[in-house]
Amino acid sequence: MRIALLSDIHANREALDACLAHVNRQGADRIAILGDIVGYGGDPVACAEIVAGLADEGAIVILGNHDEAVLRDEPDMNADALAAIRWTRGVLGQDHKSYLAGLPLTHRDGEMLLVHAGARHPGQWPYVNSPREAELSLSATDARLVFCGHTHMPVVFSLQPNGTCLPFVPVANQPVPLLRHRRWQAVIGSVGQPRDGSPAAAYAILDLGQGTLTQHRVPYDHQAAAARIRAAGLPERLASRLALGR
Ligand code: ZN
Repeated sequence: MRIALLSDIHANREALDACLAHVNRQGADRIAILGDIVGYGGDPVACAEIVAGLADEGAIVILGNHDEAVLRDEPDMNADALAAIRWTRGVLGQDHKSYLAGLPLTHRDGEMLLVHAGARHPGQWPYVNSPREAELSLSATDARLVFCGHTHMPVVFSLQPNGTCLPFVPVANQPVPLLRHRRWQAVIGSVGQPRDGSPAAAYAILDLGQGTLTQHRVPYDHQAAAARIRAAGLPERLASRLALGR
């Protein structure tokens, strides 16, 4: 069973299309979307509809904080993020909002847990950006494998026998063995707004048979995605950061 894990699409249709084409070439039995379908980017309607279509074909889809923010009156966010949320709220139809409102916070399947932010208090959107936060996430579940997004920074944590987590930054195309006697917390990079210094879209393929997680980086037309953000009148920083991967 190979599962393509895509997170933090952020209304970036160009990045989403490029990643889905890459998934097709790689071959996957299932697709899982780990939240933040909208927010920041200029194509929320297209991205919501593509994701809903994937769900109709069997994809797992869970809720992210930006998806939730569209549905709330006063989300607690920085000014740029908030500007995008307000704009997104105006362009999404009621059917899109109803779709987002129906998404679950987590998805458990056997030894695997999928969540947008972290397994501990997932609705409070914790950032798994340190070994300590990875330990807290793993301590909140008995799932052996926890996959999340939210930080836009790919990293794999393994829980050591002494109870601490060891971080490892995955290299593209190099499978990380998720040793079966260990527990793992992996943060999948962002499809639509990478922040680790590379503008290429990021996603990962989990191979449950092989017990590996492989990060992939997919170059895409980030200038076209930036043009959509500018055309929507959203903050310039949201457009310019796509070229920097920051
Ligand atoms: Zn995000």
